[in-house]
Amino acid sequence: SINDDKPNVMSSEYKVVKKAFYVPVKRNKETQEARMKLPICGEEQAIMEAISNNPVVIICGETGSGKTTQVPQFLYEAGYGNKDSDNPGIIGITQPRRVAAVSMSKRVAQELSLSEQEVSYQIRYDATTSPKTIIKFMTDGVLLRELANDFLLSKYSSIIIDEAHERSLNTDILIGVVSRVLKLRAELSEEEKSKIKPLKIIIMSATLRVSDFTQNKNLFVMAPPVINVNARQFPVSIHFNKRTPDIDHISETFKKVCKIHTRLPHGGILVFLTGQNEISILCRKLRRKFPYIKQNQDTYMSRQLLEEKEIINEAVEKVRECLTAKQADIETEDLDIGDKEVEEAESFDTDSEDSEDIKDFDNDEMIVDQHAGPLYVLPLYSLLSTHAQLRVFEPPPEGTRLCVVATNVAETSLTIPGVKYVVDCGKVKERQYDVTTGVQSYVVGWTSKASADQRAGRAGRTGPGHCYRLYSSAVFNDQFQQFTVPEIHRMPIEGVVLQMKSMNIDTVLNFPFPTPPDHDKLRKAENLLQYLGALNENGRITELGRTMATFPIAPRFSKMLIIGQQHGCLPYIIAIVSALTVGDPFIKDFHLDNNRNSDEEEENEDDRSNELSGIHKENILQKERRKLIRKSFYDVQKKHSGLDPTSDILKLLSVVGAYEYEGGTDKFCESNFVRPKAMQEIHKLRGQITNIVQMNCPGVDVCVDPKMKPPSTIQIKALKQIITAGFIDQVAIRKGVIEKSSKTFSSTRNVEYCTMWTEDVVFIHPTSILYHNKPPNFVVYQELHKTSKVWMKGVTVVESSWLSKLGKSLCTFSKPVELTTSKSKKKKESEKIAYVSPSFGPKNWELS
Ligand code: ADP
Ligand code: MG
Repeated sequence: SINDDKPNVMSSEYKVVKKAFYVPVKRNKETQEARMKLPICGEEQAIMEAISNNPVVIICGETGSGKTTQVPQFLYEAGYGNKDSDNPGIIGITQPRRVAAVSMSKRVAQELSLSEQEVSYQIRYDATTSPKTIIKFMTDGVLLRELANDFLLSKYSSIIIDEAHERSLNTDILIGVVSRVLKLRAELSEEEKSKIKPLKIIIMSATLRVSDFTQNKNLFVMAPPVINVNARQFPVSIHFNKRTPDIDHISETFKKVCKIHTRLPHGGILVFLTGQNEISILCRKLRRKFPYIKQNQDTYMSRQLLEEKEIINEAVEKVRECLTAKQADIETEDLDIGDKEVEEAESFDTDSEDSEDIKDFDNDEMIVDQHAGPLYVLPLYSLLSTHAQLRVFEPPPEGTRLCVVATNVAETSLTIPGVKYVVDCGKVKERQYDVTTGVQSYVVGWTSKASADQRAGRAGRTGPGHCYRLYSSAVFNDQFQQFTVPEIHRMPIEGVVLQMKSMNIDTVLNFPFPTPPDHDKLRKAENLLQYLGALNENGRITELGRTMATFPIAPRFSKMLIIGQQHGCLPYIIAIVSALTVGDPFIKDFHLDNNRNSDEEEENEDDRSNELSGIHKENILQKERRKLIRKSFYDVQKKHSGLDPTSDILKLLSVVGAYEYEGGTDKFCESNFVRPKAMQEIHKLRGQITNIVQMNCPGVDVCVDPKMKPPSTIQIKALKQIITAGFIDQVAIRKGVIEKSSKTFSSTRNVEYCTMWTEDVVFIHPTSILYHNKPPNFVVYQELHKTSKVWMKGVTVVESSWLSKLGKSLCTFSKPVELTTSKSKKKKESEKIAYVSPSFGPKNWELS
């Protein structure tokens, strides 16, 4: 039944809201009842009065109290977004995560009985916004980019900055920028002021720790009022483990869930793990142990089909056992400054359930439990499709118990209904970035006490609950930090600095960050942008920089796109950039395996590979099979290096090209040892980047057909130079080149290279196609990876003559050489771009 256009009781009581602008809302009964139970609805009046009387308001409330879904509705009902009111602009809500932006916009549209155009979302590469949009959910990166064109945010009547407690980099920047926006608006002349409508800022946090926003005099002149929403939180009993298990928290988690499911009364289980790979493993184990079979599945498939499917599955399984036995987590970089997918973006795995912890295959743990009922197991992480994510909100099927296995996206962004038991591994995966070495790595570490308490709190939403912490109270007390360190203190920020520069924020060093980052880090980001030609020597944004800033990808990649376009290589560069963004699609364990004896360090390359390496019971047959697979793996690698044997990045291009040429099948992936999910992601990203290029550069002719012709010899040469231009700050030189040592090498093993920034000693990674070749003098690398040595990954051989051209200012060479290009007419332009770099450079880079 519908609430016949009648305002609900709470809203009608407003003293502050002008009746004339009040917007009637139709909500169905169920929704209305559910929302009336939310603690925030009791505070509607206090919140709306505070908003009406203050430019900035802070709202604190437990996860699940209704902040994200209700505050936009309060504003909407009070006339915000209403074209005829005093506040006609859009109601904007920012989220650090894409998942939340999408699912929350859907939820609010549903609660308000409005269309997806009216309550819409905008995330990287995807949007439902339209001229009709009244409420818009977006990632904070999206709003940051909008700020570049509209610094006064004149489109908006209100901006809600959600999940501010997470202190994501973008949230921090946003809060800083918004404080400037308010200042600027205050400084406008009366006439100008009359032209734009007032803007309200609402900062929402799931914790009470907001002093960085209220006490920081640089930020807001007047400390904003803080409204605390007292959520009913039922007591949660915390159970610590007696001792803290070693690295293998998956088995520990598995055991705990089994115990809960077989022994404890009904109620949903929420498990916190660190990443997609772990989640897939645990989901699989749990589904095997407590199978839930969809009722009508059999009716849809004839018996014969079923059997066939089983046989195929079994065969596939066998191969996968071999393939994934030691497969390490694949690290990928989310290059968009727009979205915070960091701790979840670590592994673009093959289909979500492909990884299997082989050592548990013969374990009795895996025997199906007949007595306990079925467990309805759902994964939840940000790379999961939206459709799959929304399943966690639906009630589990009759007779089953819900078990959600999630990353910390379930910590505060999404409230899963009906959770009574929380199992917390205590860990979190975070991207770390070393300021001095430039080395970037994903690190699984203990979460903070504040986070652990948030996780525990998830069990007390609907009734008393239990939280099982898989670590001891001693570890919690001694090793957990009080709060999570704000992201700005852990992340590479050149993309953000470029965005800030393109918003004409020139003094990044004095920007009102809630907690200002290291000056070094900021200066270093500015330096990189100067090397890339995005900033001039005064730190001002250049023409090239502005063009680069329009691309929502890492600055070095946008530079590659721009130069690629000028050299007739755009489709190839789009493919390369997509592949580099998604991460290496090649299944890697054969490298590790083959070098087992000679490269001890590589064995430890990733803890996970060790963790998954329990292949004790391998029988001879399997060994033979592995041998065969390994051989064909190397054949494939060789095949893809055929395009150009001096660049790992061109090998990537080759596999992308071949994949599309063959029609993008899983069969191709299987026989080429690449992960289908990664290839699909690359395919998707290519389409998206192609769109972006089309949108940003209307005149440019972009190839929309995913099938490309292989590049010509000249194009290959140009491609390598474009790669060099994009990674110009990541050149390494073989030790001894400068002294003109006459030492000869048969392979690159143990050949020392020296990096440009830090003069660190680095080595070519065994997965590189250059590893077994004669060591080149100059290379550019995509990234450094630190184990006991520092390894270069994604290596491309560079001719020294290119360096003089592409990184003229970085080194001093005697004779600059022309950039090879297929179109000599376009040379002039490209030169301009290639030359935009200020001077810099340690002395040892001088070659004569
Ligand atoms: P907060 O932002 O304070 O953490 P939310 O507004 O996200 O709270 O959630 C309020 C309530 O709405 C929670 O109980 C949550 O489970 C419910 N909810 C949110 N999204 C959905 C959805 N898509 N389907 C069903 N319930 C939802
Ligand atoms: Mg919320």
